[in-house]
Amino acid sequence: MSYDSGKDVFTRGCLQVYTGNGKGKTTAAIGLAVRALGAGMKVFFGQFVKRGEYSEIAILKNLENMVLRQYGEEGFVMGKPGASDVEAASRGVRDAADALAGGNFGLVVLDEVNVAYALGMISLPELLTVAASRRDGTELVMTGRGAPPGLIEAADLVTEMREVKHYFKAGLKARKGIES
Ligand code: ATP
Ligand code: MG
Repeated sequence: MSYDSGKDVFTRGCLQVYTGNGKGKTTAAIGLAVRALGAGMKVFFGQFVKRGEYSEIAILKNLENMVLRQYGEEGFVMGKPGASDVEAASRGVRDAADALAGGNFGLVVLDEVNVAYALGMISLPELLTVAASRRDGTELVMTGRGAPPGLIEAADLVTEMREVKHYFKAGLKARKGIES
């Protein structure tokens, strides 16, 4: 996909995608948000699909220059998303487009947005429209398993967290402070 502004992609800010089955996508995005805040940038951090007091929320929501929003129902969506799940995801898409078009944020993170796509809550054209709406100097990060090829093509950076080994398979569920 090409951008119509004719501007060099590096003037525009980059699109980064963290995908794959291994651990580290959300934590990488949180790490980047902390780094950006440390540099005095304003950060919009939107979490799709899930809602709840993840430990990162407890700390991030109190930071200056941080706007944090959740666009999921309680817990993860299981099976086919309901109307309220889809409506929440659409709200996230609108807020993200506004945050990107406003030009106030140095970094916009859309955590698990790829999962919202994979579950059929957001379309590929919507994802690409959001990506294309960012202004100069705004970096955009999209995370989650199942990033579609069309998004990967549009991205400037794609990192796949590949599971080599994961304790989840040995029965160790998400732990507070480590996964949640
Ligand atoms: P993190 O938030 O720790 O950076 P992530 O964002 O890369 O992880 P997600 O795909 O969002 O990972 O999955 C989150 C949850 O799914 C975890 O809490 C974990 O318990 C569970 N899970 C199940 N299988 C896996 C796997 N193979 N890799 C990672 N997480 C898994
Ligand atoms: Mg994640």
